[in-house]
Amino acid sequence: MSFDLVGLPALSRFTIDRSEPLRGDSERIAALWPKARMIVVDTRGRTLVAERGTRVVDRPAVEFGEQPPLGSVLLGEQDGVAYFAVLMPAEEGEQVPVGRSWVAPELTDEPQWLDLRQAGATLDDMSAGLFTTAAALFQWHRLGKFCAKCGSPTGLEKSGWVSVCSGCGREEYPRTDAAVICLVHDGADQVLLARGPGWPEGRFSVLAGFVESGESLEACVAREILEEVGVTVRDIRYLGSQPWPFPRSLMIGFEAVADPSEPLVPADGEIAEARWVSRADVRMAIEEPGSVPGLGLAGGASIAFRMLQSWSGAAHSA
Ligand SMILES: [Zn+2]
Repeated sequence: MSFDLVGLPALSRFTIDRSEPLRGDSERIAALWPKARMIVVDTRGRTLVAERGTRVVDRPAVEFGEQPPLGSVLLGEQDGVAYFAVLMPAEEGEQVPVGRSWVAPELTDEPQWLDLRQAGATLDDMSAGLFTTAAALFQWHRLGKFCAKCGSPTGLEKSGWVSVCSGCGREEYPRTDAAVICLVHDGADQVLLARGPGWPEGRFSVLAGFVESGESLEACVAREILEEVGVTVRDIRYLGSQPWPFPRSLMIGFEAVADPSEPLVPADGEIAEARWVSRADVRMAIEEPGSVPGLGLAGGASIAFRMLQSWSGAAHSA
């Protein structure tokens, strides 16, 4: 029995015009600047979120200078208002790996600094889209400071959307790594979940892996599941996708069917534990986190959450 995603994954929402032609049009940008808005993302991948996690705080862009500051990006335009983002250090001299929050924050009325994993599911559509795109672009900037061909430093053009090599002139556009994620079920009421080696006890999710060079998405699904848990799948079907900028993935979601009588063989070093879980348990674990002993699921910002929610018929819980 097949299923579809109920609603877009949290980080796939982008409601404003991405305005690609505007990126290189300095005259129009100058005309839009007085009314433009700016969101600030820090080097830990966090932005200031208000109204109990529902809205990203934006500021008048003119507070940041008479023109877009160096390293800022143009996210898009809506009703004559251009939206920009700028990166700032989380703390002076701080070097922090971006995004690793498993625990949902307590959302307050006071603005708080939250990352995409924490706020992605509670933000409204416009805020989620702006924040996701800004976080993804800044990750690409961070990882692409030197030319992949000649090693010279690169500079940014087109409002942060093109990097150009100072040595050989090579242009690069924002990079994204394709990864498949697959909800494997038995065609009836069981889903195959697994736990990664570094994950907390009881934390489970669906299986995922990076697409290899020269590989199709469907072949990757079949290979990853066979490699990770020793199971052969059939009826592989596309469900939907979402950006996951940690650091720069595009998660491409599938469902597939497997036979639960096949023995599960977790891959050494990749999967700590794998098991079949009932639809009722998944639904309860989503609707009342902590209510099913030994079963904690992925956070609401992930496509894994949306896949499990859609398959189990669970009501949405923030
Ligand atoms: Zn170069």
